[in-house]
Amino acid sequence: MDSKNKTITFLPLIIIIFTVVVLIVVIEVPKIFSKTQSKDKPAGAFLIDKVIFTNDSSDSAGKQIEQQASSIDASNTNPEELQNPSADSVSNNPTEQPDLTEISTGVENINLDEIETMIKMYDYDRALELLEKYPDQNDERVAGLTLDIKNGKNNTVLKNSLENTHIFFHSLIYNTSKAFDDDYKAAGYNQFMTTCLEFDRILEQLYERNYVLVAMHDLAKLETDENGKQVMVPGEIYLPENKKLLVLSVDDVNYYEYMEEDGFANKLVLDQNGKVTCSMINDQGMTVLGNYDVVPILDQFIENHPDFSYRGAKGILALTGYEGALGYRTDERYKDTNPNLDADIAEAKKVAQALRDTGWEFASHSWGHVKMNAITLENFQQDADRWEKNILPIIGETDIMIYPFGAPFSWSIDDYNYDNQHFAYLKQKGFDYFCTVDCSRYYTTSIRDDFLLQGRINLDGYRMYYNPELIEDLIDPDYVLDEARPLPVPPL
Ligand SMILES: [Zn+2]
Repeated sequence: MDSKNKTITFLPLIIIIFTVVVLIVVIEVPKIFSKTQSKDKPAGAFLIDKVIFTNDSSDSAGKQIEQQASSIDASNTNPEELQNPSADSVSNNPTEQPDLTEISTGVENINLDEIETMIKMYDYDRALELLEKYPDQNDERVAGLTLDIKNGKNNTVLKNSLENTHIFFHSLIYNTSKAFDDDYKAAGYNQFMTTCLEFDRILEQLYERNYVLVAMHDLAKLETDENGKQVMVPGEIYLPENKKLLVLSVDDVNYYEYMEEDGFANKLVLDQNGKVTCSMINDQGMTVLGNYDVVPILDQFIENHPDFSYRGAKGILALTGYEGALGYRTDERYKDTNPNLDADIAEAKKVAQALRDTGWEFASHSWGHVKMNAITLENFQQDADRWEKNILPIIGETDIMIYPFGAPFSWSIDDYNYDNQHFAYLKQKGFDYFCTVDCSRYYTTSIRDDFLLQGRINLDGYRMYYNPELIEDLIDPDYVLDEARPLPVPPL
């Protein structure tokens, strides 16, 4: 039999096989892709489909994970960034991602949903201004929103901006079994940290009790008086009568090396939509994104409850410098040990800009977490210089100083004058708002001359367990305390 005959005999079979193969490709391949996209994920989390291998040498394992994770974050987790080569500059990158709390300014971008959010955030004048420019005035929602603005405005009163309460947290514990594992750090975590579950409950209670987040710069602002002198002037905040002013801050948003493996997020990152979220390394060595700390949890809460935020205010993130910023090892100390230093700096800048764009403020927490009343003036100044050199380029200018250990250079407000070299140096560095820790009263804000000074209340394990009576207006610690927190909280 010649080969031509063979081919003719088998032709129908070949056609059938070919057709079947084509059908399989057409039907199954898209399914495979859709499977990879919708793979089961934990609620609110996004898995990066890359396994990060840990190094066998346990000594350097943490560092290896950190470095590999940063190279992944900086390179290819965000397809949109890859398509947008200009996205690497902080100042040229103002509003990449649409966010409900962002304020649109261009007439062509006016969005009725954003205006509605603005109204819920008590920003009536701005909402009205934008609504009047809305191209389709016959849209059925316009009349309703106009009425909401009128009613909302009539319902507000001028608040005393000195009557505000400032609460603060550290990075939240996401995995309690890792944090409270009886190692030498567990007692400290139990005293000074709050868990994600507790933070959820705290937000729920603060909201129920009519607290509203305000920005530090809403409380008071520097203005120039008729003599050309800078003076701190109380802000005019209009809110419904029953609402209470609340400032929130987070200390040490640095994701220190010692926290690795202890159940915390390891850095703030941008997700595939350009929104700020947290990453952490799970037990399989994979980088996982999700709501593992204050920033994404509060962002989400305000998205669901815009009336918890006055004009989009979120909180203040206080950073030291010695281990970099926001989980990125960006300090000059890492120049020989972090091969991704430049990429990490660029990424940290992008994250910081996205935070600023969505209502977050930044503060200095000193470079070396120094006790300002216990070091020489020279060391104090060097520390301020180092913070300015290493952190300011990443997070941008800030005028808020959140004292490490809550301990100021002096506890006397009378020392806040230019004869005091510490005060003069901090003012020269641009700081106008100063925060200590003070749980003795709910209202601790003083405005004098050209500065604002206030105390803050820690809502952590220690405070909730030992002084529930000092914070009972804010929360009910019996309700808030995480069942997974070992009690009693160790005494200090
Ligand atoms: Zn601190």
